[in-house]
Parts: sequence; C-alpha cells; structure tokens
Amino acid sequence: MIDAIAIDGPAGAGKSTIAKMAAKELDMIYVDTGAMYRAIAVWTHDENIPPDAEECIRDRLDSVNVTITYKDSQQRVMLNDADVTDRLRDEETGRRASVVSKHRCVREKLVSLQQELAKSSRVIMDGRDIGTRVLPEARLKIFLTASAKVRAKRRFDELKEKGVECDLDTILEDIKKRDFADETRKESPLKPAEDAVIVDSSEMTQEEVAETIIRLYSGKL
Ligand code: C5P
Repeated sequence: MIDAIAIDGPAGAGKSTIAKMAAKELDMIYVDTGAMYRAIAVWTHDENIPPDAEECIRDRLDSVNVTITYKDSQQRVMLNDADVTDRLRDEETGRRASVVSKHRCVREKLVSLQQELAKSSRVIMDGRDIGTRVLPEARLKIFLTASAKVRAKRRFDELKEKGVECDLDTILEDIKKRDFADETRKESPLKPAEDAVIVDSSEMTQEEVAETIIRLYSGKL
C-alpha cells in the first residue's frame, strides 16, 4: 500500500477543487494529472501536430519534457522549461487533451512521471486512471461523479463568473462527448477501480465531499 489518495471521475465532477481542499487539510501534495495531458495538447498545438497523429506524436515525444513544480503551494506545469500553466484551462485545450490522451505512448510517458511523483511525496492525485493504473496500491481510491446535467451547470456557472460567453446546451454536449471518449477508449478507459468508493456529488456541497474523503482516509467512515 502507498500512502496516497487516488481520485478519478468524469470531467466536471469537481475533482480538482475537492482534491485541493482535502490536500490542504491532510497536508498532502495535490497532483492534477489532467494538466499533464493538457500540456501535451498545448505542445501538439504549438508544433502544428494534429492531436490524432499518433505516429508523429510517438516519434517526437522524446523531445517533450513535462515537469511539475510548486510555487506558493500551487502546481505549475512546465513544458520544456516554459511555464504553460496559464494556457491549460481553455475548452479547446481540453478537447485536444482528450484526443492526445488516447495514445499509448503519451499515457506511458505521463504515467511513469506520475508514479515518480507519488514515490517522493504523499499525494492526492486526480485523473481518470489513477486508481486503476497509476496508483493501484493507493490507501484510498475515490470515484467522484455527478450527473452530466449537474456537471454542465457547474461549468456554465464557473465560466459565467469569469465573464466568458457560453451556452449551457453546448457545454452539456461537450461533457457528454468527452465522457464517451474517456469511457470507451482502448487505453485506460475511465472506470472505477474495483475497490474504489463511489461518491456521487450531484446533491452534495464541495465541503461535504471533501469531508467525506477526509473521513474515509482517516478511517472514520
Ligand atoms: O481532468 P482534465 O479535464 O483536465 O483532463 C483533460 C483530459 O485529459 C481528459 O478529458 C482525459 O481525456 C485526459 N486525462 C486522462 N487521464 C488522466 C487525466 C486526464 O486521460 N489521468
């Protein structure tokens, strides 16, 4: 067993917010693995490589260096020494990340990086395959989900708050498409680990979800 928490689940389930809250409380390091796939997506964009061009990506992947650093306890993602953290969150990068993450070569590279991170610190890691593939020996595995409608509404509110023009139906369609792509891909499809605790956050506040995870980790539930 390794002293780590694995949190998997579909896009928009609130994994990162909750993982950050629990990490603070439990004094653990939060690792956002989606950000690493997003960094590879940014690289393909900058190099003009179509995200589904697996062979081309495989041939050039050795030249890509993704590293994680921490500044004021915030994760920063470096792509070949450039800090790309502020370029990772837009919708286009999310879509591209969902395509590049299908490729075995990309997954192998990032999974070993993630496993190295978990060796050097106590981590709360979120993603799609943390409990099933990256850290199958984690002390606690959570599969955090919520209905597609609830996830779309949360994303909509988040974008609105940032002043971004958006449309709820388009976001819902996008979420459904990404769920389908993540759940049906050949390499590490999104699914709960056999021993994961399934938490449906549709009717829960973020605080309630974080509290549930902290209690499970501490063996109180
Ligand atoms: O979690 P986030 O939305 O940032 O992830 C972006 C994309 O990266 C996801 O849609 C998923 O396809 C991929 N991903 C993955 N495995 C992970 C984390 C993210 O395949 N561990």
